Amino acid sequence: MERTFVMVKPDGVKRGVIGSIINRFEQKGFALMAIKLMQIDLALAEEHYRDLRTKPFFGELVGYLTSGSVCAMIWEGPNAVANARSLIGKTNPVEAAPGTIRGDYAMDVAGNIVHGSDSPESAAREIGLFFTQELPITTFMGFPYNEQSAE
Ligand code: GDP
Ligand code: MG
Repeated sequence: MERTFVMVKPDGVKRGVIGSIINRFEQKGFALMAIKLMQIDLALAEEHYRDLRTKPFFGELVGYLTSGSVCAMIWEGPNAVANARSLIGKTNPVEAAPGTIRGDYAMDVAGNIVHGSDSPESAAREIGLFFTQELPITTFMGFPYNEQSAE
């Protein structure tokens, strides 16, 4: 079993496709481990995409990521990182195959509506950045879920 970090970016949240994206992960067989709606600040956006800081589009990228709420999620399953990347599709929606999330919901690389970690190491780093507390097996809204809190 492996975990990966997936995030519906601000354009996906604004367009109301969080549910459609969650549905694809559930249909594929992933298990949702944690989910939260949040606003990313500039420091977190820059840290998340630190490997791209020398790219000419870095300013546009962190501006995009901080332009509205995002939906941060942890999904679990066998080969979760690679399976999530294939569901999401290629970075540039022009090249993303129909049937993939980016292929079906996006047209421009500057607004490709969803993020997925690119390696198990990236997944661990990104989960640590976005979900700072220790995660139990079952979580709800990013908080420990148990009988007591359900009452
Ligand atoms: P990903 O792992 O498929 O998301 O792709 P990368 O890690 O290479 O890039 C991270 C994100 O940067 C992409 O998902 C896009 O949102 C954004 N991005 C990549 N290339 C460009 C570009 O040429 N212009 C702009 N504005 N954004 C880009
Ligand atoms: Mg990437």
